[in-house]
Amino acid sequence: MTQRAAFITGVTGQDGGELARLLLGKGYVVHGLARAPERFDWARVADIAGAREYLTLHRGDMRDAGSLARALHASQPDEIYNLAAQSNVGLSFEQPEETHDVNAAGTHRLLRAVRLLGLEDRSRLYQASSSEIFGPSSGLPHTEQSKFNPCNPYAESKVQAFETVRRYRDEFGVFACNGILFNHEGPFRWKGFVTRKISIAVAAKTLGIEAPLALGNLDACRDWGHVGDYVAGMWAMLQHDKPDDMILATGEARSVRSFVEAAFASVGSDVVWDGRGLDEQGRDAQTGELLVSINPKFYRPVDPPIAIGDASRARRVLGWRPRVTFQQLVHEMVQADIDRLRILAAAGEAPSLVSAVAD
Ligand code: NDP
Ligand code: GDP
Repeated sequence: MTQRAAFITGVTGQDGGELARLLLGKGYVVHGLARAPERFDWARVADIAGAREYLTLHRGDMRDAGSLARALHASQPDEIYNLAAQSNVGLSFEQPEETHDVNAAGTHRLLRAVRLLGLEDRSRLYQASSSEIFGPSSGLPHTEQSKFNPCNPYAESKVQAFETVRRYRDEFGVFACNGILFNHEGPFRWKGFVTRKISIAVAAKTLGIEAPLALGNLDACRDWGHVGDYVAGMWAMLQHDKPDDMILATGEARSVRSFVEAAFASVGSDVVWDGRGLDEQGRDAQTGELLVSINPKFYRPVDPPIAIGDASRARRVLGWRPRVTFQQLVHEMVQADIDRLRILAAAGEAPSLVSAVAD
């Protein structure tokens, strides 16, 4: 039997690396699109036999149609996973045009390349959509029927990409699915996201490294799952007999404050809070040491107070359900950062990682 081929944009990202592992483990030939292939972290697939033989990296950019077409043509994929994005909501307020160009126009360029290369009968496409498309719309938890109410440039770009995917499916018959994923995290989450920022700070404190943690809105609630469960869901969507748009979520929302508490609890520290608003502080219950302060620069102009998703359709149709609990997720992230920081500290390079906590 010939090996199935997959093409992943955003292969250097959190989800891209995890998905590459999953697909290589299933025996796929994997092609990844990367702006800088030399930055791909081969350690992420090191435990997969034959990873270097079956994973090919193509230099390309979502803003450059030619590089997309060239890489797609060389890959001849059975499955395309469009994960590349400017994926950070906070940054999208500062870089709205780039966010649009990569996330919305880039998705359109990719779909056009699929058609121009005549791949629509061969290739199925997964689009990395996001819970952000719902914004602060009413009626929680969100389902596939919930209204879109994007409230930041990232969310706008993802709504546009969503509609383009749907149009290519309805008008041109492309097997294309929007996976509407709620937040999913793991040890390779970019440090601009709050969970990773917290796990780095807690790891640093555990090792006695100075890393004061400054955060924004502690009361924002997110539906946090584990990246491994979510890439398995992406794959499952493309194995189904018909293309569909589906939510992946845990169905449980927790606040940033709870994430902080769980992260410190995973290393045996209790946090007590005092003060209000910008003056709120989190201290070590035993020692009184300052652990968390508030910096207004981490507040967003608009921030949905809660995101929580209903993944019943994915459960019913795909048999998908999240396996990793919130506590396991937090523990894994903190432990991974402790391990990393130990190595970096031994080499005198720990400040490069912990500086993220104040950024
Ligand atoms: P990351 O930010 O970790 O990865 C983004 C990837 O996109 C990186 O590989 C990055 O490459 C690449 N990229 C950025 N700009 C370009 C460009 N111009 N051309 C080519 N590649 C580019 O995100 P995640 O892995 O967490 O997320 C994957 C996808 O899922 C994204 O589309 C994200 O918006 C979406 N999503 C993620 C959620 C989550 O909780 N993780 C939730 C819902 C949706 P480089 O290394 O060069 O920067
Ligand atoms: P998002 O849900 O994709 O925007 O993921 P983030 O991890 O960036 O943010 C999750 C929530 O944490 C949002 O409501 C943020 O406003 C909130 N938050 C509070 N403090 C911070 C912070 O210091 N950094 C980030 N990134 N988010 C923060």
